[in-house]
Amino acid sequence: GIGYINGKYIGLNENAVPIEERGCQFGDGIYEVIRVYNGKPFMLDEHLARLLKSGNAIKLQIKQSMEEFRMLIKEAIAKSGLSNCCVYLQITRGISARNHLFPDVPVSISMTVKQIIPLPDSIREKGAAAIFHEDERWANCYIKSLNLLPNVLARQTAYEQGCFEAILVREGMVTEGTSSNVFIVKQGKVYTTPLSRNILAGITRMVVKRVSEVVNVQFIEQAFSKEDLVGADEVFITNTTSEIVPIVKVEGKKIGTGAPGEVTMKLYHKLQQFVADLKEM
Ligand code: PMP
Repeated sequence: GIGYINGKYIGLNENAVPIEERGCQFGDGIYEVIRVYNGKPFMLDEHLARLLKSGNAIKLQIKQSMEEFRMLIKEAIAKSGLSNCCVYLQITRGISARNHLFPDVPVSISMTVKQIIPLPDSIREKGAAAIFHEDERWANCYIKSLNLLPNVLARQTAYEQGCFEAILVREGMVTEGTSSNVFIVKQGKVYTTPLSRNILAGITRMVVKRVSEVVNVQFIEQAFSKEDLVGADEVFITNTTSEIVPIVKVEGKKIGTGAPGEVTMKLYHKLQQFVADLKEM
C-alpha cells in the first residue's frame, strides 16, 4: 500500500503531519472509504458527493473540485499498483497552533491505498454474530466525521463478546452498526432504517436498494425496533469493505434458522454480479 499527504506520496509508515494538526488534536475532519475492484473505484461519484456534503456540514473550506478528487484518487490507485484495494481519503481543517477557532490555513488532504483484507470465508458462509449497544453518538451521524470514539468503544465491546458488530439502538429503535447499515428481512421484504441525521447514508445501502429492484425484492425504508430485529427472518449489515454480511445471531439469540438467509444471499450474489460486470467495462 501507499500513502499520500498534501501533494506528496509517502510510505504507509512515514511520518506525515506535525503534532499540531486539527485531525489529530480535535478529530476536526471527515473521511471516505472507497472500494476498488479490478483497478476501478466503485461508486466513486457517490462517495465524492457524500464527502463534499460532509465537508459543507462542518464548514470545511475545500478548494479542490470533485473532478480534482476524482483524478487524485485514480492517480493514487495507479501508483499503488493494486487492483483490489481500498482508498481511505481524509480531509482535516489543517495544520495550525491548537485553538478551537477555525485557522486560516488550507485543509490537509491525506489518503492511503491498501490491499483489501478479505472477510473470513466462515463469516460469508455461516454468518456473523452481533450485540445491541446503546447509540451514544451525537446528533449529526449523517456526517462522515473523524470522531469515531463511540463507534470504536461499541465495536470493541462486541469483539470482547465474540461478536462481529454492535448494532446501535436509540430510544429502542435500531439506527445502524458501528461501521455498517442494518437491514432486516420479513416475509421476503427488506427493511432498513430511513435516512435521517441519525445515520450515515451508506453507499452500499444505496447499492442494495438498486440491487433489490433488479431482483424484485421490495425495499422498505422504515424504522424498526430491537424486538423487530430479533424476530426477523433474516438480518444483514452492509458497508463498502465487507459488502453484505449475514447476521445470524444477536445477543446470543438465533435469527431465523441461524444460517444466512435466502434473500440476503440473493442480494449478495446479485451484488457480486454487479461488481463482476463492472470489471469487464
Ligand atoms: N454507517 C457507519 C457509521 C459507517 O461507518 C459506515 C461505513 N463507512 C456505514 C454506515 C456504511 O457506509 P458505506 O456503505 O458507504 O461504506
